[in-house]
Amino acid sequence: MKTLDHTRVTIAAQAVGVAQGALDYALGYIQERKQFGHPVSDFQGLQFMIADMGMKIEAARQITYAAAGRSERGDKDLTFFGAAAKAFASDTAMQVTTDAVQLLGGYGFTSDYPVERMMRDAKITQIYEGTNEIQRVIIARQMSR
Ligand SMILES: Cc1cc2nc3c(=O)[nH]c(=O)nc-3n(C[C@H](O)[C@H](O)[C@H](O)COP(=O)(O)OP(=O)(O)OC[C@H]3O[C@@H](n4cnc5c(N)ncnc54)[C@H](O)[C@@H]3O)c2cc1C
Repeated sequence: MKTLDHTRVTIAAQAVGVAQGALDYALGYIQERKQFGHPVSDFQGLQFMIADMGMKIEAARQITYAAAGRSERGDKDLTFFGAAAKAFASDTAMQVTTDAVQLLGGYGFTSDYPVERMMRDAKITQIYEGTNEIQRVIIARQMSR
């Protein structure tokens, strides 16, 4: 169980990387793709999505760094931080990669573009090293101690 406190931080880092990769790809795409005479990145509805994706990824990155520091030092609250970083970053990766598919429209769904694979890659980070339901059990248990 103690080993998992440390290894969960690596799953959080993996999730942050998948999410950042999907955002980077989608950002490039929406600046090139034109509809109604404009790059689709000009549409405010998509700008709001991009802003949310960027905010969530940065929050996930920061909690992952916070957990990594605790892993290095062997801090007592690592159990909470390892589970919280894993659950938060993987839920973020799932949301962000799903939004990235949406930003590419129909092309996002096809295997000609990488974001559909990223969406599947994000999914496993919510499952292995303990599902996110189990992370929440751990987090709640730590909070009641
Ligand atoms: C690609 C891949 C790689 C893997 N690599 C490894 C590895 O290297 N080492 C290793 O040990 N394992 C590995 N696993 C296994 C992985 O850790 C488990 O699949 C995961 O922990 C979930 O267990 P389970 O599949 O038995 O799901 P189950 O325990 O059957 O869960 C089914 C559902 O019930 C929920 N659930 C179960 N118990 C509770 C509860 N108490 N409260 C609320 N909800 C609950 C779960 O969250 C899930 O939604 C890997 C799995 C995959 C798919």
